[in-house]
Amino acid sequence: MSPYRLRGKTVLSFSGGRTSAYMLRQVLDHNEDLSDLLVLFANTGKEHPATLEFVRECAERWAVPITWLEYRDDEKGFAVVDVDTCSRDGEPFEAIIRKRKYLPNPVTRFCTIDLKIRIIHKYLRSLGLSTEEEPVDMLTGIRADEPRRVVKIRNRGSTSESKHATMIMPLADAGAGVQEVTDFWAAQPFDLMLSTVNGRTLEGNCDLCFLKPLNQVYSIIASDRSRGDWWAMQERVTQSTGQFAGDGARFRKDRPSYQQMMDYAEIQFDLFTEIGEAMGCFCGD
Ligand code: SF4
Repeated sequence: MSPYRLRGKTVLSFSGGRTSAYMLRQVLDHNEDLSDLLVLFANTGKEHPATLEFVRECAERWAVPITWLEYRDDEKGFAVVDVDTCSRDGEPFEAIIRKRKYLPNPVTRFCTIDLKIRIIHKYLRSLGLSTEEEPVDMLTGIRADEPRRVVKIRNRGSTSESKHATMIMPLADAGAGVQEVTDFWAAQPFDLMLSTVNGRTLEGNCDLCFLKPLNQVYSIIASDRSRGDWWAMQERVTQSTGQFAGDGARFRKDRPSYQQMMDYAEIQFDLFTEIGEAMGCFCGD
């Protein structure tokens, strides 16, 4: 059976990237009955406007409903929004930082968990779905050429979330890698309007995500210093109000702060030559 065939109630977690959209297209092409499919996009508020437009365009061109969700610090825990009402200045992300009183970092990536995974599960539970008795299938866009992420997901033990969902990686199961995704988009009449390097979208997911290689983050700031404003402000505010001044007030303690990167960009000092591999997370591509 094709790895893209639905086996029952299925949630496709759409990151707003090319890989995720490729997976969606394959699912649409391999199933006549799509009544069991829910496509969910969790917006952190720090996605590039081009990503938001791409999500909208995929839904419209492919005639598939995509539900947009955002974290809220209230009893319900989430809001359903759309391209017109969604946050575009990091509001959900900032709300979870204020609640936690420290910043996410490569070890404690609570942004992924609280802004994406948990609100998806809360939304599903609000629909009476994703129970322990009847877990849903959760499609995630991890490719065959991301073996470490594949192994990590496969080895993941039971968590409160995974008891209610079975993680499925149809791209990995189908052997689809970055080449298949690139070839697919080269033949499409529309695309995500963000540039790529080696198949990775530079400004995909949260624009200056701390998991991106330093040279990538710096080059975005160097091209437009104001892009660092929000990130620098979170470090500044958390430093002054957080429980964990110091390490908890930096997204990365092993790097210059976002403000320092902005200051370096100001004097056009190209100090950042670290070539690193981006760390993967649930946020996907
Ligand atoms: S893209 Fe980065 S900053 Fe955004 S939610 Fe994912 S891990 Fe956090």
